[in-house]
Amino acid sequence: MPSTKTRIAIVGAGVAGLVVARHVTSKLDVYSLTVFEQTDQIGGTWVYTDETHLDKHGLLVHSSMYKNLRTNIPKEVMQIPDFPFKDQNSPSFIHHSVIRQYLLEYADHFNLHPYIKLNTLVKHVEPEVLTNGQTLWTLTYVDLKTKIETTRTYDAMVLCNGHYTVGHIPRIPGIESFNGDCIHSHQYRLPEIYAGKKVCILGASWSGIDIALEVAQHADKVYLSHNLPEPIDFKTFVNIEQKTGVASIQRDLFTFLDGSSTEVNSFIYCTGYEFTYSFMSANVKIHTDDNHVEPIYKYLVHMDYTNLFFMGLPGLVIPFPMFHIQAQYVLGILEGRIVLPSPQQMREEYENEKKYLLDQDIPIRYINKLKDRQWAYYDEIAAAANVPNFPPVIKKINDHVNEMRDTNITGYKNYKYHIIDNDTFSVSCYKPR
Ligand SMILES: Cc1cc2nc3c(=O)[nH]c(=O)nc-3n(C[C@H](O)[C@H](O)[C@H](O)COP(=O)(O)OP(=O)(O)OC[C@H]3O[C@@H](n4cnc5c(N)ncnc54)[C@H](O)[C@@H]3O)c2cc1C
Repeated sequence: MPSTKTRIAIVGAGVAGLVVARHVTSKLDVYSLTVFEQTDQIGGTWVYTDETHLDKHGLLVHSSMYKNLRTNIPKEVMQIPDFPFKDQNSPSFIHHSVIRQYLLEYADHFNLHPYIKLNTLVKHVEPEVLTNGQTLWTLTYVDLKTKIETTRTYDAMVLCNGHYTVGHIPRIPGIESFNGDCIHSHQYRLPEIYAGKKVCILGASWSGIDIALEVAQHADKVYLSHNLPEPIDFKTFVNIEQKTGVASIQRDLFTFLDGSSTEVNSFIYCTGYEFTYSFMSANVKIHTDDNHVEPIYKYLVHMDYTNLFFMGLPGLVIPFPMFHIQAQYVLGILEGRIVLPSPQQMREEYENEKKYLLDQDIPIRYINKLKDRQWAYYDEIAAAANVPNFPPVIKKINDHVNEMRDTNITGYKNYKYHIIDNDTFSVSCYKPR
């Protein structure tokens, strides 16, 4: 007799894939599950590698971790609500290897390994619309060790393939004449190689600032090029000079938008990433222009295929806890506890919200950057899924971190947060030894 269970396929065993798997496997009477992971390990971008371009299978190296990276969100906020970090007294802003270990423990604790196929690349996913209107998903995967391809059918797909692998590279006139070394932050690993050099870093978001701070400890000079309205206060880092955007390049001469020019030996693009779903059939219309994914409802569900889910679209959020709520929202839809509006109504709702944001001069590529809007988003999807939202202390700590970051970019990671209860926290200065 064919199984009556809902067959779920998850693409990717990073945090998002693991969190969805944890919730799916809590209902194994209802679901069967396969998680496909192209690399030989779970953890996604938290699996550090010295490799920077292609992996042993000739695929793009997935991880963008650099060797010294410490988290930019304290672990008290970053932790998944049903799996707190064991050592609550350790520093708040922790090395990437601690997060990787935490994810391994999460997978062990919830017994996820039996459902994960490592070294297995999802090559193609094709929708098949049945006469009753239901969509099935035909998924072709390849075992990267044996090269054997297999095709299987699933009732629902959850895409957890990450979006920090394909760098966004803006076109700069004359870049082809630059003969120094040039990478995207995806390929950045170590600051020491910049010893004695003049380095231009383009972009002052999380990675741009973090990388500027570590490169400046070795380089002769760091030019941080950005178009922020105010300069950043780098305090004692006197060899970081802030410049406007790069207007053009002629060999090693960089000219900035304010007309000034300087000699540069090394160039690092910290200009963000692109969403890519190359394994998805062109029949499923997914638009990713201007780093904005459509047509997706609540940053999660394809409006025309409501059994196709996209994890990880919102930016400037607290990703791990957000995945915990999103995963339960996904199951709410699959189980019929959450009834979605019609595709047309979803589109109307979405277009209204988009217009509202565009009218506030938010460029389309920033619409998914929720920042202050994230809390209302969690409220909404948690309520719809009928699951607890985060206690107020999480937002309070997050706000405190943002304040500290704004006033003390060079030292904000030296603070240690303690959750006292659902409403209160304390903070102390932690000095790394
Ligand atoms: C440098 C950097 C620093 C960051 N720092 C923080 C931080 O301090 N705190 C924080 O909360 N977040 C941070 N983030 C954000 C981070 O991306 C998220 O926290 C989270 O790791 C995203 O998880 P994910 O599962 O969506 O994606 P990923 O971790 O990227 O995992 C995706 C997985 O899908 C697999 N995959 C992709 N395509 C296929 C395919 N076709 N077939 C099979 N498998 C596939 C990949 O191999 C990978 O394992 C940082 C990100 C970067 C890049």
